[in-house]
Amino acid sequence: MLIGIDWGGTKIEGVAMEHDGRELLRLREVTPRHDYFGCIRVIKTMIDALESQTGRTGSIGIGIPGSLEPVSRLGKGASSTWLLGRPVEKDLHDAIKREMRIENDADCFAASEAMDGAGAGHNVIFAVILGSGAGAGIAVGGKAHHGPNNSGGEWGHNPLPFPDVTEIPGKACYCGRHGCMETWVSGRAFEAEYASHTNEQLKASEIIEKKRGGDRLSTLLWDRYVDRVARGLATVVNSLDPDILVMGGGMSNVEELYQDLPRELAKRTFSTVFYTPIRKAVHGDSSGVRGAAWLWKS
Ligand SMILES: [Zn+2]
Repeated sequence: MLIGIDWGGTKIEGVAMEHDGRELLRLREVTPRHDYFGCIRVIKTMIDALESQTGRTGSIGIGIPGSLEPVSRLGKGASSTWLLGRPVEKDLHDAIKREMRIENDADCFAASEAMDGAGAGHNVIFAVILGSGAGAGIAVGGKAHHGPNNSGGEWGHNPLPFPDVTEIPGKACYCGRHGCMETWVSGRAFEAEYASHTNEQLKASEIIEKKRGGDRLSTLLWDRYVDRVARGLATVVNSLDPDILVMGGGMSNVEELYQDLPRELAKRTFSTVFYTPIRKAVHGDSSGVRGAAWLWKS
C-alpha cells in the first residue's frame, strides 16, 4: 500500500491507500506549531499507527509545507517557519529509519489532481491554492515539476502584477518581501481587507454570503479579489500557458469564482483568446495527503 503524510501548518494528516487510490485508513492530528521535532514525532507515530491498524507495510511519501534546497537539502520557502534551515530529510530519516520521498505540499496537491482529480487527462497543470495562505504547484505528465532551484510554483511570492498606486508597496509578507500574491489572494487576506473597511472580523464564507445578499462593500471586495487573482494568473498563462488551472483551498469553494475568474483573466492575458479550463480541485483538502501517497506511484 501507499502511505501519504501531509505535514501542514495546522494539521498533520496521514492516509493508507491502495495502488488504485482506494483509501484504507485516514488519520489526523493537530500540528504542534513551532515545535519542529514535535512534528516529526507526530509523523513517526502516525506512520506506525497506519501500519499497525491496517496490518500492512507501505511506501512513505511526505508533503512538507516548504521545499528542500536542492543541494544542501535544508528546508526553505516554508510558511511553517520552524522548518527553515532544518535538515528536514535527514531528521525524518533519523526518526522513521525508512526510505521515503519528500515533496512540497503544493506539488503534492498538483500531482494528486493530475493523477485522478480535476486535472486528469491534462498534460501541464497549474494548481493554485487559495487557502489560509496562497501558493501553487505544477504537474507535468502526472508528476510534480521541479527545476534546478526546487522553486517551480512559488507563485505565492510573486509580487502582485499590474499594481495600482494603492497596492504599492503592499503588505509585508513573512518571506521578508512586500506585496506577494499570498498577501492579496489568500482567504486570510480577503478577510483582512473586509476588516480594514469595517473593523468587523468575518470569515470569508460570511463575506461571500453578504455579497450574495447584495451587500455593496462585499461585492466590491469580491470583484477586487477576483481581479487580483486574475492578474496573478495572467502572468502564469503568459509564461507557461498550462492546459488547465485547478483551484484549491477554502476560496476555491466560492462558486462565483468559476464564472468571474475566466472573464477577468481573459482581460489580463496577452492572448486575444482565453480557452483555459478553470476547475475546482476534486479531492479538496485531501489532495495534499493523496498526492504525498502518489509519490511512490511509478
Ligand atoms: Zn512572500
